[in-house]
Amino acid sequence: MMLEQRIQHACEELGWSRVPEVLYQHAEQASKENISYLEFLDNLLQEELRAKYERIILTRTRFARLPFQKTLEEFDFTFQPSVDERRMRDLATMHFLGHQENVIFLGPPGVGKTHLAVALGLEAIRQRYSVYFTTANELVESLEEAHEKGTIRRKLRQYTKPALLIVDEIGYRKMNNAAAHLFFQLVAERYEKGAMILTSNKSYSEWGDIFGDNVLATAILDRILHHSTTVNIRGESYRIQEKKKAGFLRLDEDGKPMTL
Ligand code: ADP
Ligand code: MG
Repeated sequence: MMLEQRIQHACEELGWSRVPEVLYQHAEQASKENISYLEFLDNLLQEELRAKYERIILTRTRFARLPFQKTLEEFDFTFQPSVDERRMRDLATMHFLGHQENVIFLGPPGVGKTHLAVALGLEAIRQRYSVYFTTANELVESLEEAHEKGTIRRKLRQYTKPALLIVDEIGYRKMNNAAAHLFFQLVAERYEKGAMILTSNKSYSEWGDIFGDNVLATAILDRILHHSTTVNIRGESYRIQEKKKAGFLRLDEDGKPMTL
């Protein structure tokens, strides 16, 4: 076998995809610029490592099923003063994730709850944690379906496995009794084992309505809040603000949006 073929073959066997692509370029450069053998090898290995890291991030990002990709840098903290930037930077260190703590974003529609949850999710992926995003509706529907099919154990494991589970939009729809119990089961399974980010448009005192049962809601909140941080976002919807700026929206005397 020729030397070049042998290298190609070895890279394939090792699962290295980047080195074969850049080998000749590096070899040429090394001879031209008198790069040492060790430095040459180091350059190639670093290329392969970078490519591997990018692949991991890509796979994990796909797996996470985020609804969009937005970062903390894209969040305008001056628009939303009730969100403390330093606190967000602190959360972005993922200390809470390492300690199986929960983060809950509360606030009305459009204030950036999903944006912040996604931004922390992306940062977690960057720090090589596994992340999974779902809405409360989707979650409960898939748990109910699994329950009917007798595969609930497996389904629960799917939701308890990721280091970070994001459950968006708790409270947009009320849950029936069976759904609320399945949700409780999930929360109990993740309790002190894995971190969660939750978002809700309802304050904790209204969670009894969401789950249709105050005792159950208390049991759920008890576990979620035991090790947790709550970020209360007050203020105006960013979406509405943008529309106002663009002149698409006018407000009536009470400051309520008028429909077009
Ligand atoms: P919520 O989940 O609270 O209803 P979203 O996070 O979906 O709100 O925000 C609505 C839209 O406005 C998204 O496109 C989001 O990126 C954007 N947005 C909200 N708040 C801000 C902000 N402070 N800076 C930049 N974009 C924002
Ligand atoms: Mg949202």
